[in-house]
Amino acid sequence: MVEANYIQEKMAEIQKSEELSNIMGKLLSGKPGYKAVIEKKIIQVRCPGNCGMIFESPVKFCPECGSKIEWPKKE
Ligand SMILES: [Zn+2]
Repeated sequence: MVEANYIQEKMAEIQKSEELSNIMGKLLSGKPGYKAVIEKKIIQVRCPGNCGMIFESPVKFCPECGSKIEWPKKE
């Protein structure tokens, strides 16, 4: 069962990184249990045209080919 081992390993890794973020939070805030949030949502949208450009900032039109860029609605 190689796959099960792999999952277990991954879980251990996640747990470790969680511990790390707890420690980081403690260091940054002086409060135990405070979690440092190092999360940044980057939305990438590929140009529907042929240019293959990928945009990270909400531009309305592709500067390369002029296609209209459709951005997902904010939740
Ligand atoms: Zn384009």
